[in-house]
Amino acid sequence: GIDTLFDLEKLAVLGHGNGGTVYKVRHRHTSSLYALKVLKFDEDAIAVRQQAAREAEILKRVDSQFVVKCHGVFDNGLGDPECVGCDLCFVMEYMEAGSLHDVLSIHRRLTERAISGIGRRVLEGLHYLHGMQIVHRDIKPSNLLINNRGEIKIADFGVSRVVAGKLEPANSSMGTSAYMSPERLDPERWNGHYSDGFAGDVWSLGLVVLECHVGHFPLISPGQKPDWATLMCAICFGEKMEMPETASPEFRSFMRRCLEKDWRMRGTVTELLSHPFVTKESSSATEELVGYALEG
Ligand code: ATP
Ligand code: MG
Repeated sequence: GIDTLFDLEKLAVLGHGNGGTVYKVRHRHTSSLYALKVLKFDEDAIAVRQQAAREAEILKRVDSQFVVKCHGVFDNGLGDPECVGCDLCFVMEYMEAGSLHDVLSIHRRLTERAISGIGRRVLEGLHYLHGMQIVHRDIKPSNLLINNRGEIKIADFGVSRVVAGKLEPANSSMGTSAYMSPERLDPERWNGHYSDGFAGDVWSLGLVVLECHVGHFPLISPGQKPDWATLMCAICFGEKMEMPETASPEFRSFMRRCLEKDWRMRGTVTELLSHPFVTKESSSATEELVGYALEG
């Protein structure tokens, strides 16, 4: 295990996100590589920080080959001098090829075989998390990481919540994402039939696999300025989404099950795990993903 952040040497910046920076680090004694995520909090954002610290507790219980491993959580409350001020630090499994967002910005469009491999692994990860009563709530390309073995894993529990456990539901501090489901953007529409949130992760996965096929965020035409009102309309009120002709019938059927606007009608993770799109032989999908990872 990692006992102190003193043992980690910063090698490079891997990326920036909302409120934090991710570094590539090396453990001085073992030479193992890790990703270190440092979240900064304003002095006055104590409640947000407490929420984040509690969420960190979730991470420690998560252990699946389909989810990025968290090897430790540090905050200066633990007296670690490297972790200054209001920082909260996560030591994570290092995923060499970065995120699916990075892969897409290089390759633009992925083969259907590779996408089916991504779909399979993300569903397996969701199956595991949902089984622990965890809704991820922020499935999007930058939170799906890939390593040199072509393995995709779910990362980032920034906004995830334990449904039946002690953590409270999402609050307004978490913001909105273009990958959010209709029922999360407009919860009133189902007059009282509030979703437990699991179906929202399936919606987000649907948008991700569609994006991997068309090569851009699917609800906005390429080149068009992202405008939140238009986007919200397309997600919540628009017509049933047309699935691209270029996708195979199985792939189109898979996406239709994920992108059903009424969450009560949408495919569940368990159902989709036996969908023909993701049950095909998967070693060739992994090979193609290794190709994308290494070319990056
Ligand atoms: P958001 O803040 O909305 O989650 P984000 O996911 O892009 O946005 P971060 O989670 O901070 O922000 O990640 C930033 C980038 O760092 C990612 O896009 C990815 O390229 C890289 N990264 C994150 N975690 C790892 C990891 N475990 N291994 C390798 N690279 C990582
Ligand atoms: Mg992230």
